[in-house]
Parts: sequence; structure tokens; C-alpha cells
Amino acid sequence: MGNIQVMDELLSNRIAAGEVVERPASVVKELVENAIDAGSKSIAVYLVEAGLTSIQVIDDGAGMDDSDAMQCFARHATSKIHHEHDLFRIRTLGFRGEALASIAAVAKVHMKTSDGQTGTTLVIEGGEIKQHDKADLRQGTAITVSQLFYNTPARLKYMKTLQTELGHIMDLMNRLALCNPDIAFRLVHNDQEQLYTNGRGNIAQVLAAVYGVANAKKMVPFEGESHDYRIHGFAALPEITRASKNYMSFFVNGRWVKSFLMQNAVTDAYHTYLPIHRHPIVVVYIESDPQLTDVNVHPAKHQIRMSKEKELLSLITDTIRTTIHQASRVPQIEQPK
Ligand code: ADP
Ligand code: MG
Repeated sequence: MGNIQVMDELLSNRIAAGEVVERPASVVKELVENAIDAGSKSIAVYLVEAGLTSIQVIDDGAGMDDSDAMQCFARHATSKIHHEHDLFRIRTLGFRGEALASIAAVAKVHMKTSDGQTGTTLVIEGGEIKQHDKADLRQGTAITVSQLFYNTPARLKYMKTLQTELGHIMDLMNRLALCNPDIAFRLVHNDQEQLYTNGRGNIAQVLAAVYGVANAKKMVPFEGESHDYRIHGFAALPEITRASKNYMSFFVNGRWVKSFLMQNAVTDAYHTYLPIHRHPIVVVYIESDPQLTDVNVHPAKHQIRMSKEKELLSLITDTIRTTIHQASRVPQIEQPK
């Protein structure tokens, strides 16, 4: 007999978890994105010790029936992709069916979910269902992830300070809130509220919640269009600057993406307006045919491949440059006649 064996699922999930679950913020990301995909109008996140002790996400979305609840922790279990051709028109944030399986492999999980018809609670440890009971029928899902990395001590050691881990979560929640002004978000850390948005679709309210009222008042709206792309968003007047490039946010078809090229496109727009080593606060929403974008680059889905990238980058630079130029032009004193 040869030496090669196919790994059992629990072991392969734990290995795959390393890619999906890097730190507490990755858990928050996956759980909140699932809540968004489930059509939630209100999503609350409660953290203890920056999520290392526990992370709870409560939503009022579609919930799951009992059989889906039993299925959802299996690897590659997803309700979002049924056919190969679905891959080319992904509109949901998730689609790999890996997140819950990965999280359950490296933490203790408690879930309560209801679709309004059945209610289920599950306790999962080490990827295995340990308890399965009925629950009340209030529609939505509440998942609590505790003792993250309890069975992968090497990963636990790698965690930075609580402040750093909390910083990553705040960064993520700010972006999710900016991206979804129609959803009310609440983030609470050790009983202290860190973020609250009202979910009434008003981006100005979200900007104020994220960047403070004074900064939000100095952000100018813009919009622009090219053959294949439409963009809109807010660009801060050059008088408010930041030492980091992290205050530029880009969303492509409702997904937060990180892109050096887009950051450079914005930097070009502000060229001559900003002191050296200072960066603007900018939020850019990009819409395009999903066929022009490939999000299936990395499990965390932060990177994206875009066709016709040059067209998009010039659209960003030109639109923001014009907006900044007009908004910061010194008003001309009228000549007396
Ligand atoms: P994916 O999001 O890629 O489909 P996940 O492992 O994150 O994979 O979730 C598996 C499935 O569990 C989802 O496809 C969805 O059907 C269900 N699910 C997970 N979280 C929720 C939630 N908060 N509300 C409703 N359904 C959920
Ligand atoms: Mg998911």
C-alpha cells in the first residue's frame, strides 16, 4: 500500500482555516458579511478583549432553517453558488462556503438561528456539532465565537496587542458601515460603544460616525462616469490631511477592496494640494458590470482584478481633481462696476 491518504475533513479544515482566519478581524469580517448577504437591516457586534475572548454577531436577516443550520459549518457548504456560471456574476460577499467551517475549526462556536419557521441552537467545538436544540422563532442569526485559536497555540502567540487587533476590527467595521449606509451597525468593545450608524441610507451620517462631524462637514461629494464605470463618493478638502494612506476607501460593487493603484490615482488628483507625506480622506464607490471584475483572487477577497483598469484609474483621478479644484478655489472678490 502507498503512503498517500486523503486527510479527514476536520484536519483539512484546520489547515485551510489558516488562510481564512488570520486574526479576530477576519472572523468579524466573515460573520458580518454573512449577515449582510442574509439581507439584514441591523447588525450588532459585541467583542470581549478585542475578539480574542469572544466575538458575537447578531443580525435580523433571513436566518436558516434547521437543516441549513446543520449544514452551514460543513466545508464548501454555501447557498450562494449553485452552478459554475454563478462564479462569473457574484453579487454576494461570500461564495466559497469556507468561512464557517474554518472558524469552527479554530474556535468554540454557539449559533442560534431562525428563519421564522424553525429555530435552532447549535454548539460546535473543534469543528464538530456537540449540541443541537430547538430555539425561539425570532428571525435572524446570532453567532458567538469564543476562545479563538484555542487549539492552534502557534497562531495565538502571533496575535499582536489588543489595541492592534481592535484597530483592525474598527477599520473593517468602518468600511462595512461606509459601504452599507442602509444597514444599522453597532460595534461594542468591552461594553463600550465604538461605532453606531442608523441605517437610514444617509452616507453623511455614516461619514460623521466614522470620521467625526467636523471632518465629515469638510468632505465634498463627487460623481463621474466613463464608458464602463460609474463612480461617486466624498473627497475631503485638502485642509484636512492624514499621515497614513489608510483613510482612502474603495468599494467595488459593494465590496471593500484594497488597491495601491487606486490610492495612487487619488494621490495624483490631490497632487500640488497636499504637503509631502500627507494623505487625504476619500471614499470612492465604484460600480461596473460584475463581469469586468474578478474577486476570486484570494480567500479574504480584498484584492480584485479589474479589466479596463486604466479607464477606471483616470476616471478616479479626473473626477476627484476637478472636485477638489472647484471646492478649494478661492472665491473671487467681485469688482465694483
Ligand atoms: P459563504 O458565505 O461563502 O456561502 P459561509 O461558510 O460563510 O460560506 O456560510 C455558509 C452558508 O451559511 C451561507 O451560504 C449561508 O447560506 C449560511 N449562513 C451563514 N451565516 C448566515 C447568516 N448570518 N444568516 C443566514 N444564513 C447564513
Ligand atoms: Mg460567508
